[in-house]
Amino acid sequence: MGTPVGNVSSPDSAGGERSLLDLSFPELEQELVADGLRPIHAQTLFRAIHHDLATTKEALEAHPGFLPPLRRWVGGQIGTGGRFTLPQLEVVSEVLSSDGLTRKLLLRLADGQVVETVLMGFSGRHTACLSTQAGCAMGCVFCATGQMGFVRNLTPGEIVSQVHRAQSALRASGGTGLRNLVLMGMGEPLNNYDAVMAALECVCDSRGLNLGSSRITISTVGVVPGILRMVAERRPYPLAVSLHGSTDAERSALVPAGRRWPLDELMDACREYTTATEGRIFFEWTLIAGRNDSPEHAARLGALLRGIPSHVNLIPLNPTQGFDGTATQGGAAKRFQEVLKEAGIPSTLRQRRGIDVAAGCGQLRAERTRTDPVTNSTRSPRSVSS
Ligand code: SAH
Ligand code: SF4
Repeated sequence: MGTPVGNVSSPDSAGGERSLLDLSFPELEQELVADGLRPIHAQTLFRAIHHDLATTKEALEAHPGFLPPLRRWVGGQIGTGGRFTLPQLEVVSEVLSSDGLTRKLLLRLADGQVVETVLMGFSGRHTACLSTQAGCAMGCVFCATGQMGFVRNLTPGEIVSQVHRAQSALRASGGTGLRNLVLMGMGEPLNNYDAVMAALECVCDSRGLNLGSSRITISTVGVVPGILRMVAERRPYPLAVSLHGSTDAERSALVPAGRRWPLDELMDACREYTTATEGRIFFEWTLIAGRNDSPEHAARLGALLRGIPSHVNLIPLNPTQGFDGTATQGGAAKRFQEVLKEAGIPSTLRQRRGIDVAAGCGQLRAERTRTDPVTNSTRSPRSVSS
């Protein structure tokens, strides 16, 4: 099941041209030096792309910081006849929550696939929620992305480009800039391991966007080999594991990946992660009325997490077309939280507003493709209920 850990597909490379957004700083430097430029030009170009967010060849050629050799390189190597492209994600639609705090972008990739990026701004601390795959192979029954199946992995550049889009949107609205990233959009990040890690290294590079690695949370359905690889490679990113069930039978009914990686294996991998990082791990629990939201479920979850430094995020279900379930109501959710607290497990109950109501993982895309074939137009923001 699923896509092998570490598989990177790169639709751009088929035509022989590479996206500049796929290149790490060392790779970009290597390319320029091979073409006879001095390494300093790589710093200038990397900063123009990843910090100043230049989106076109023309913007790069007009960049005041570029010396003639770099300008000539850009003129000859980007676009028609050149070895590189600077592809941008096209905004197909934008939805603003009625409280104005959440903005959801539907973005079209070069081959027409559409993914979601969500921008959340609570008390001035902006967070972007990124997609890592078009679709997902893991088939979680309540998830709109899982219901659409797997299409393909995103490239590093397509993941980086989502961050650029979010940062540009914030700059345009006079915001303070991005502080946090969460990989909780469409797709399973650890099934696209290499591209995800390359993209995160790029956005953390101090010569570009310079985001802090401790503010980037990777959410996984529990791909054990990917978690262990993160530990072995000492990846510094906080980890969130989507549990939703505390016995193999209950979990696997919601999350088929539970059959491939049973809870004892998953919990061992989580313990390795917390030991290696000396940090805690986040566990996500989608609250579904009558399925996994009783005090007994909470007690079993508390027992499962005993001894693991953890924090549980409780997310009331966003109903989806393909799943016949409803969200746990407030009282039951509070009781669930109380039982966890008695077991010594801290938790947060996510508010059902903005993104939480109408824009869960993959839902905007699902809604749009159901009601209205995706068009080329950029739509003006509209409100969703909260
Ligand atoms: N594939 C990764 C990251 C993307 S999904 C993962 O599964 O962790 C991010 C989170 O949204 C997961 O915890 C997932 O279970 C949750 N989620 C997906 N669909 C949802 C829905 N309809 N309602 C509530 N939570 C949902
Ligand atoms: Fe994939 Fe995550 Fe959705 Fe499961 S919840 S189908 S792993 S995106």
